[in-house]
This record gives sequence, structure tokens and C-alpha cells, in this order.
Amino acid sequence: MKAHHGMYIGGEWRPAAGADTIEVVNPVDEQVIGRVPAGTSADVGHAVRAARAALPGWAATPPTERAAKLAALRDVLVARKDEIAETVTAELGSPLPFSQAVHAGVPILVAGSYAELAATYAFEEKVGNSTVYHEPVGVVGAITPWNYPLHQIVAKVAPALAAGCTVVLKPAEDTPLTAQLFAEAVAEADFPAGVFNLVTGLGPVAGQALAEHPDVDLVSFTGSTTVGRRIGGTAGAAVKRVALELGGKSANVILPSADLAKAVNVGVANVMSNSGQTCSAWTRMLVHTSQYEEAVGLAAAAAAKYGDRIGPVVSAKQRSRVRSCIEKGIAEGARLVVGGPESPREQGYFISPTVFADVTPDMTIAQEEIFGPVLSIIRYEDEEEAVRIANGTVYGLAGAVWAAEEAEAVAFARRLDTGQVDINGGRFNPLAPFGGYKQSGVGRELGSHGLTEYLQTKSLQF
Ligand code: NAD
Repeated sequence: MKAHHGMYIGGEWRPAAGADTIEVVNPVDEQVIGRVPAGTSADVGHAVRAARAALPGWAATPPTERAAKLAALRDVLVARKDEIAETVTAELGSPLPFSQAVHAGVPILVAGSYAELAATYAFEEKVGNSTVYHEPVGVVGAITPWNYPLHQIVAKVAPALAAGCTVVLKPAEDTPLTAQLFAEAVAEADFPAGVFNLVTGLGPVAGQALAEHPDVDLVSFTGSTTVGRRIGGTAGAAVKRVALELGGKSANVILPSADLAKAVNVGVANVMSNSGQTCSAWTRMLVHTSQYEEAVGLAAAAAAKYGDRIGPVVSAKQRSRVRSCIEKGIAEGARLVVGGPESPREQGYFISPTVFADVTPDMTIAQEEIFGPVLSIIRYEDEEEAVRIANGTVYGLAGAVWAAEEAEAVAFARRLDTGQVDINGGRFNPLAPFGGYKQSGVGRELGSHGLTEYLQTKSLQF
């Protein structure tokens, strides 16, 4: 796809306020594939003004009409799904089949789910002698990461538009071309001007200007806990709504009764998928001491099969971050069974699928998010210890439990301090609330829970 040299503001591509640009690099061959404008606070100001001007009209548009526009958007995404997949592959580096199935496929499902929800949601209800209206919060500032470039955008923009909010999006600097493609899709779906606006740019410049803008009513952020904490602080000081989807360090707990080979193989696939750049990835595998060495052998064999087919990580910066985590794991005494810090290829930001055994819960690799294809296998003696280890990080985004009987796995899952748990490999559900306990975030995305983030209530008494 061809990069746009402007910002999408007020229903048209407009020149950026400044002349600076951001290079977009293909992580497979390190070649520059495009340049987008690096937005400034002036661009953010223009975009917020456009979103504010469009708000009264869009908020007053009947939900069924908003639903029809979202359905049109979904249809454009379907029509352009190959282009979406190719663009994500070009700037993120993920293998094309994965981009087709997940990076293009999931946003289509989510956009469709909000077309349906906008049409069916009860935006008005009776409570005793009151009528309660669920009204849009207002202008939304959406700030998204690069790991699932289109999904992260659609998971914010679709519910916001369904609710009647207007949006200014600041996408990640590593994957702006997918965001520009999304803006083209919004234009093609014929949304009113100003309902959706795009400002590309650097986090500490354009992102921060958006998060701090006094005329933004709600900031919805997905990214690192460090930046999220700062955005939460800014929003708190301004008494402004905020939704934060942050980091994770999820536990995959294999109970002794489980099908060990299946649990290990699915667990390894989960961590290696998207080159480990998934906030909800099960990066800690917890195995009972009686099955520990067998699990390590299975995991090593499963990881070794991937080789460099998983694709690179997104950038040189990310590669050096992941490498230093692997080096720290070795230095702290974990047993490296597959992979390591050396690159498997001379060109591209590749990291070998890596498995560590003999990881103890206090090690850095067991506590900090790595965001690369690195699995830590941790031993537990009994169920109490497994619960303690699983809950023993600052995060609480996701997790998995495996057992012979569903009831046993559910009982264990209820003891986990985490926002979602997959039971025996349960499938992703685009309608289930997604979000974190503890420092993994505030608020929920997807389905009706994701919609309510963008609504506020007004009660009329009779
Ligand atoms: P990041 O926090 O560096 O960047 C995320 C976004 O914030 C980008 O658009 C960036 O430009 C912007 N940003 C950076 N500094 C900013 C600032 N000072 N003010 C405003 N905006 C700023 O994170 P990343 O490295 O792009 O993404 C990886 C992180 O995202 C991981 O920690 C991962 O766990 C997390 N993540 C969480 C979820 C979830 O749903 N919980 C989903 C995906 C990724």
C-alpha cells in the first residue's frame, strides 16, 4: 500500500502541521517501506476540534444508523482483507497466513460484532420511576500499540463509534500504514466527516498531546504499563475517563490430571504465535514436579520445530530488549533448553524460539513481560503453590488451566487474579470482555462490556 503524507482529519487527508516524518521499516529485510508524517500537538489540536465538531451530530444519529455505518465498515474491511494482511505483514513482519487469519480476520469479526451491538443494545432503560439513558462519553483519544495493529484500533474505534462517540486515533509509530488503511476504510464506509480522525506520530509527542488534550473526554490506551501509568495519572488529574489495556505475564497452569502433551504443545504455540508479541501470551508454564522433565522435553521439541518460521519481532529496539531478557535469564541461572540470544538469521529482527527450564518465580524472566518468543517453565509441588506462583506477579491479564475434568480446571481458574482464563484450550471469543486485573489495566474491551466503556448514564425521574 502507498503511504499517505497527511493526516486524516475532518473527513479528508490534510497536510501535517510539521515537516518531520517517521520511517516505516519491514522487520524481515530491514528495508524502509514508507514514510508517514510525525504529528505534533498542532495536528492533534486540529483533529480534536474536528472530532468535537462532529460529536453532536453523531451522538444524535439513531443507533440503527450508526450500526449501518459500522456494517459498511466491516464490509470494506472484508473487501480489502488481502491488502490488510499484506500491509500488516510488511510492517510487523508476521507470516502472511497468520496476518490473513488473525490480523485481518479478527478485526472483521469485531467490527461486525459492534454493527450488531449498536443495533440491538438498550441505550435506554426503565428503572422504577426513572428512565436511564446510556449516552456517549464524548470525544475519545485512542492510543494503540503495534502488536495487533488493526485489532487494537478496531477494538477501540468500533465500540466508540457504536456508542455515539467521535474519535482521534494515534496509532503506534511502527505500524502506521495499517492505521492509514483503516482511515481509508472509514472514508469508504462514508462516515460523517470528523467522526473518525487519524494523527500519526511519536508517542511522547503526538500521543502525549492527545492524552493531555483538555477537550478529549476519554483516553483509551493499549500499551506498556509504564506509559499507561503516566496516562492514567494525567487523566486522573483532569478527572477524565480512562481505559488502560496494559502488559501481562500470564500463567499456563497444567494440573497433573491434564493431557500433558496437548497442554504443552498448545502452550508453546500460544507463546510463539505473533513472535511472542501478545500481551495475553502464556509466557509462564507451570508444571507439577512429577511431570516436569517430561514437559520440558515436550516443550523443547515443540519450540525447536518453529525455527525462524514464526517471523521476526517488530524492530531492532524490540529485538535488543528481548535479547537482553534472554541474557538475564541465563545470568540468573535458568536452564536454556532451546534458542538463545543469537539471531537465527543475518538480516531481519529474528529471535530464535527460546525455552527456559528451572525458572524460579523470583527470576526477572518470570516477573517481567518479555514480549518475544520466550517461554519459562516453572515447577510447583502442590496446588497451593501453583496458585501462589500464578498470582505472584504485578500482572493479571490472562491465563490458562488444563485438567482432565472441566470442573477441576474451573475451580482452579476461579482462584486466579486475572481477567480471562482459557480452560483446556478454550477458543478466543470476540464477545467476551478482555482486560486486566491488577497492573494489567483498567476497563474492558470487546462485546457489550467494551461498549459500556464509551457510555455514561443519565437518569430522568418521573
Ligand atoms: P508503548 O506503551 O511503548 O506504546 C503504545 C502506544 O503508546 C504507542 O502508540 C506509543 O506511540 C504511545 N506512547 C508512547 N509513549 C507515550 C506517551 N508518553 N504518551 C502517550 N502515548 C505514548 O507500548 P508498545 O511497546 O507499543 O506495546 C507493547 C506493550 O503493549 C506491551 O507491554 C503489551 O503487553 C502491551 N499490550 C497490552 C494489550 C492489552 O490488551 N492489555 C494489548 C497489546 C499490547
